[in-house]
Amino acid sequence: MSSSVPGQGTGRTASPAIEVSGLRKSYGDKVVLDGIDLTAPEGTVLALLGPNGAGKTTAVKILSTLVTPDHGQVRVAGHDLATHPHHLRAAIGVTGQFSAVDGLLTGEENMRLMADLHHLPPAEARRVTADLLARFDLLDAAKKPASTYSGGMKRRLDIAMTLVGAPRVIFLDEPTTGLDPRSRHTMWQIIRALVADGVTVLLTTQYLEEADQLADRIAVLNGGKIAAEGTPDQLKRQIPGGHVRLRFTDPALYRTAVATLQVATRDDEALTLQIPSGGSQRELRSLLDWLDAAGIEADELTVHTPDLDDVFFALTQEVSR
Ligand code: ADP
Repeated sequence: MSSSVPGQGTGRTASPAIEVSGLRKSYGDKVVLDGIDLTAPEGTVLALLGPNGAGKTTAVKILSTLVTPDHGQVRVAGHDLATHPHHLRAAIGVTGQFSAVDGLLTGEENMRLMADLHHLPPAEARRVTADLLARFDLLDAAKKPASTYSGGMKRRLDIAMTLVGAPRVIFLDEPTTGLDPRSRHTMWQIIRALVADGVTVLLTTQYLEEADQLADRIAVLNGGKIAAEGTPDQLKRQIPGGHVRLRFTDPALYRTAVATLQVATRDDEALTLQIPSGGSQRELRSLLDWLDAAGIEADELTVHTPDLDDVFFALTQEVSR
């Protein structure tokens, strides 16, 4: 990754790279976005989650100037969508479902085409193309038609093409759908490296693990509204299902614990007890104090927080049919 990062160390105040308020969009009678607010500080990943048809793609299309909203304020990379759509468009990159890769062209030709679109002088176009192809491990395949590339290579080329214009904000619409686990991990590394360079990423994904891995904040879209927003951990703490598991090896100790901890769910064969807990430090401390006071000493104590799947299902089950 390049070491000179525009905007870093220049004292620029950290106004959000993405600011959306009161965004509305309907198609005919169908309200797709019913007043949504989103914020992403510079150099962070905001994940937009939601079931199929929730309006994720519509939101991305609006934020990237492809679709006009009915109402609402949108600022991306400091540019107002209503007044400066061309500035906004020039500051962003869009990849994913709207892939720009032309299968008939080689990887290198695809890159050069992007360089031409960005009016890079020939020498710089050559340099940027070579740099990006090397960075995304595509040099060996550079002279082959993109139609011969694997899914992972196509996604890497797609991102490389997006980076020709040095965008400060990137929209990644389902960037790893259909990729094998290794390619998915490579893509995650690429995204993390971009963010470390100060790029802001708006990610839509169906994979909750992906949001958990990459996102600083997650917004769950459902029924046209943001059903919940927060860090992955905040979202997990919002829903019930967390518990502390105590495992015993001594059956006598286990039985004492069962008798004392009336609320616990028990597994007599595994000699384990589950105590409902949100998993916060305060809750754990009081639980441990209570166990100490009762003279209960488990051989193993593990904390289980709900995962994002639990969160997603809890938040989206009422509206999806
Ligand atoms: P997601 O990306 O979350 O799956 P979309 O934004 O693609 O959701 O779609 C949200 C809803 O808006 C869907 O019900 C879809 O049918 C509808 N929709 C999207 N684009 C159009 C369009 N151009 N005309 C009419 N309806 C549309």
